[in-house]
Formats: sequence, C-alpha cells, structure tokens
Amino acid sequence: MILPPGVGGVVFGTRALGDGRSDPIVRSSVSAELGISKDWATISQVHGSRVVTVSGPGFYGEADALVTTSIGLPIAIATADCVPVVLLGKATRAVAHAGWRGVARGVVPAAVECMQALGDEPTTAILGPHIGACCYEVGREVIEEVGGFAARTRWGASSVDLGAAIRSQLPGVEVVDIGRCTHDDPSMASYREDGTRERQVTIVWIPRD
Ligand SMILES: [Zn+2]
Repeated sequence: MILPPGVGGVVFGTRALGDGRSDPIVRSSVSAELGISKDWATISQVHGSRVVTVSGPGFYGEADALVTTSIGLPIAIATADCVPVVLLGKATRAVAHAGWRGVARGVVPAAVECMQALGDEPTTAILGPHIGACCYEVGREVIEEVGGFAARTRWGASSVDLGAAIRSQLPGVEVVDIGRCTHDDPSMASYREDGTRERQVTIVWIPRD
C-alpha cells in the first residue's frame, strides 16, 4: 500500500492487495488493517464523466468518480494504468478514475464541480500510480482527444502524458504525483503490460479527527 505522506485518508493499493471492491474478504482485511469501515461506496467504471455524490456505503452504478462529505465513509475506485485522482477539499473528498477517455471527457473537472456544488473546492490533488508517458504508446488520435500533452516513450514512440493533462485541468490546485509507472513497477497491475483483469484499488475517506 502507498500512503502519501502528510495526508490522512488516502491509500493507493497494489496488485497484491487486490481489488477489495468486489471481494468482501479482501475488503474486510484491508479495512481492518486501515481501521476503516468495511462498507465502502463503489461504482462500475465506464471511462465516462459521471460523478456521484454519496453519503453512505453501497454500489452506485455506472460512474467514474465519487464525492463525499461523510466522515469515515470509504469511497473507492480501481485502476490498472488509468490515473487514480484524489481531490482533497476542506470538508469534501473525491476520487476519480481517469484514463485517456476520462481525461478527454472531463471526469476530473466534473468532480471539482461536484465539490463546488457542495460549497467546497479542492486545494490538493494526488495522482496515484498510473502508466507514465515513459511507457504509454498511443496514436495521434488519442493525443488529440486528450488535448495535447504529447510525449515520447523510452523507446521513442509517440505517447501522451496523462498526468500533465490532468494537471492542466486543475488550475489553482496543488497537484502531487506519486510518480510510479504501473507499467514499470512490478508491484502494480498494468493492463498494457499483460492484459490483466487485476486492478489496484484506491481508497479515500475523511478521517474522524
Ligand atoms: Zn513507464
């Protein structure tokens, strides 16, 4: 597990930790280890821009981001190359699943809008482990959809920097990138690497104190 320093209530899981959203045994053990409720709020991710605001645990259907003001309620998504984006406000937290389609469709700005509708706004964003521009070979059409941010892979192919694209969608927000490339890091599931169905979970909650 990766716990960003100085921030309570944010955990980026690893491949080995598994996807606790769909596995109640994994979820219970992870929750016990973190000292949080085993009853999470989850969604079925579809690479869109729908955001759900939740105040209790449960499954909220097809969406790509969750926002909450409820203290102690774990909100969770899972990824394997896409960017897990955590937004921290004064009294709200959001977590978004943003691959190139999510970036193109504006899921992160949509989550910010939901926080603003609740009278808050993000001061800090944390980008969890995702496929880096170092390894994310894409065609020109993906770069166009994302709005630029063209880069090169280590082997010189055309790639796109999703982290930079998300940063550009968060003006005025301090953006911290955990800086782990899922494709390079053997502890992370990477769909691009081996077509895996495994995912690593990102869990976010507002700590009680
Ligand atoms: Zn890489």
